[in-house]
Amino acid sequence: MFLLETRDLSVSYNEVPALRKVSIKAAKGEVISVLGPNGAGKTTLLKSISGLVPSEPGSKVFLNGEEIQNLAPHKITRLGVIHVPEGRQVFAELTVQENLEVAATRIGLAKARPNIERVYELFSELKPRKGQMAGTLSGGEQQMLAIGRAIVSEPLIMMIDEPSMGLAPVIVKRIFETLKKFVKDAGLTMLIVEQNAKLSLPMSDRVYIVSQGQIKLEGSVEEVKSDE
Ligand code: ADP
Ligand code: ADP
Repeated sequence: MFLLETRDLSVSYNEVPALRKVSIKAAKGEVISVLGPNGAGKTTLLKSISGLVPSEPGSKVFLNGEEIQNLAPHKITRLGVIHVPEGRQVFAELTVQENLEVAATRIGLAKARPNIERVYELFSELKPRKGQMAGTLSGGEQQMLAIGRAIVSEPLIMMIDEPSMGLAPVIVKRIFETLKKFVKDAGLTMLIVEQNAKLSLPMSDRVYIVSQGQIKLEGSVEEVKSDE
């Protein structure tokens, strides 16, 4: 059984289709790149899996074989589908430590303590800033914190949307190297959306290419590279 599966997932905004019958699968431990041009529907795919945009009748999303397409976003989060949206979303008015503790609610703070320490090991930049308001961090540090929050919650599947957006190349490299290391060590299942395939392919097992709301190509990283 697949950990996550969408079947004929369709989404429209004001009756304009953004996703048309998208079917994807993620096995436990797989890292999957979702690639495609701007406006293809990548963000919409992640948002609809998270319940943040409603899907059309007939659309299905399965988590461990159970249908989740009609659940509220917080319920989907609680089941372990953790979405790291575009734009380094953190609680600006909370400290770094508080941001991590809030993300611990899913599994309980006691269980999450080691995960919080792990985040400070992975992103050592955050450690001296534990008591600092997240809104005062640099953009790169905020993205690290947003990813750190997801790590703390022990996701069954992490969905991460364009973590490179708006960040300097040296920071992007740092973030991707750390993510890759963490994902390998943890055996994490991940869907990663990137416009820049060079960033996400080295850590991916499989790729979906989305264009105009549809899956245009699916394959292993090698297959997709040889197709280019
Ligand atoms: P991508 O992430 O691949 O850039 P999106 O999922 O953001 O693509 O967008 C897919 C399509 O849906 C685009 O045509 C975009 O303009 C449209 N779209 C996205 N969000 C909205 C929205 N909230 N309202 C209306 N149209 C939207
Ligand atoms: P509820 O309001 O029912 O507690 P939440 O919306 O708070 O549901 O989400 C459930 C849990 O998931 C909370 O512990 C929350 O902190 C955590 N959570 C929400 N968004 C994220 C995220 N982006 N990264 C990590 N954890 C998150």
